Amino acid sequence: MSNMGRVVIVGGGFAGVEAARRLRKRLATGWEIVLYSRENHLCFSPMLPEVVGSSVDAHHVVWSIREMALGVLCRTAPVTGFDFDAKQVVHVDHLGNETRESYDHLVIAAGLPVRLEIIPGMGEFGWPIKTLGDAAALRNHLIAQLERAEVTEDPEERKALLSVAVVGGGFTGVEVAGAILDLFRDSARFYSRIGERDAQVHLIEGGPRILGPLSESLAKFAEAKMRRRGMQVRVGVSVEGVEVDGVRLGGDEKIVAGTVISAVGNGTHPFIAHSGLPMERGRLVVTGAMNFEERPEVWAIGDCAAVPNAHDGSISPTLAQFATRQARQVAGNIVSVIEGRPTQPFAYTPQGMFCLIGHRNAVGQIYSLRVSGFVAWMMWHAIYWAKMPTVARKVQIAGDWAWNLFFPRDIVELSSDQTRDIEAKHGKPL
Ligand SMILES: Cc1cc2nc3c(=O)[nH]c(=O)nc-3n(C[C@H](O)[C@H](O)[C@H](O)COP(=O)(O)OP(=O)(O)OC[C@H]3O[C@@H](n4cnc5c(N)ncnc54)[C@H](O)[C@@H]3O)c2cc1C
Repeated sequence: MSNMGRVVIVGGGFAGVEAARRLRKRLATGWEIVLYSRENHLCFSPMLPEVVGSSVDAHHVVWSIREMALGVLCRTAPVTGFDFDAKQVVHVDHLGNETRESYDHLVIAAGLPVRLEIIPGMGEFGWPIKTLGDAAALRNHLIAQLERAEVTEDPEERKALLSVAVVGGGFTGVEVAGAILDLFRDSARFYSRIGERDAQVHLIEGGPRILGPLSESLAKFAEAKMRRRGMQVRVGVSVEGVEVDGVRLGGDEKIVAGTVISAVGNGTHPFIAHSGLPMERGRLVVTGAMNFEERPEVWAIGDCAAVPNAHDGSISPTLAQFATRQARQVAGNIVSVIEGRPTQPFAYTPQGMFCLIGHRNAVGQIYSLRVSGFVAWMMWHAIYWAKMPTVARKVQIAGDWAWNLFFPRDIVELSSDQTRDIEAKHGKPL
């Protein structure tokens, strides 16, 4: 076994960070583990809808990668390409200078970017929900809409400002729609011109039902519960385009909405698409051991890779629980290769899934057990709390949740205006 070498990991999400931590524990200190990420934090995406609904603080759903992966060399810089023959990753900095880092093993764990252009107009007028920045900006925008609705004297304009269309009835769409309805309903009492029932949230799904991966009975329960609360759920309806004032559906129907949110459409990072590695449906095609036949020292895991699951022969879905398990296994396989042992194929039995639907309700499945309502909501919180990587964040998140039980959610609009912006908008002071 070689006592020296370098593993370079591209991506600081669930897959990349877990792989870095595992490799650091298992490889001799002569091995350098280098992690490149666009941000210096790991974002706990399952909690982004709660950030949008202002029931948890945005800072509490991210962790510093440096603190999580001690002993790993963290570089907050985007990788822009690969030179597989020279075994190097390439980074071009903001000044155009190129730097290269050599590797003995390379792990690609860069996730999947959102592709807004999948629906005409979504890129221009829609709001994505993928990153911490997306969630924080959307939360701020929704609070600004409440403020505008309070100021306007035109009831039609108020209606439009308080109308939100969420495109995509999967887990993300359902959770975001539920969180927004909660935010608007709970906050209405602080506004004199806004009634609790004035906000309209439309959830639009192109398939025959929402929450496709869950059982039909749970999906029906979720839909009925959300409808009873006043959510407008449309299934089997495709969105033809997004405009400045709403979404256009087939047959010339239009839903007027001041905010349109995209919970559909994954794309591929250009640096991966141009890498020459085999791809299918926007994901890297890897072996069961998660590397490439032509380049066994290159591995790919997480959302960006179509990893076959030896448990049932299916391709792994784009879920954090799969990304994390793949990371553990890829670390084991890299160590095996270094130590001259055979690799193992990825095999994982999914444990279950939960989805928040708003108003302290959720639906979920653990193995064959189906749960719904408040019990499911409690289980969702217990499971995700247990998964939080640091004690500090566990305390902060528990504090946020406890706060929500006794106090109203935070409707402070975090203004990003600096003096310069205020002067540009309102004129220089005299
Ligand atoms: C709103 C939302 C809710 C979700 N809810 C759930 C849920 O409840 N349960 C569940 O299991 N899954 C959920 N998911 C899916 C889950 O978040 C993903 O499956 C998971 O994040 C995949 O992990 P990953 O490491 O492959 O990719 P990501 O977490 O997306 O991380 C990719 C990383 O690569 C970095 N990167 C990208 N390009 C470059 C580059 N050029 N150079 C360097 N770094 C780069 C990014 O900055 C990022 O750090 C949700 C996702 C979203 C968006």
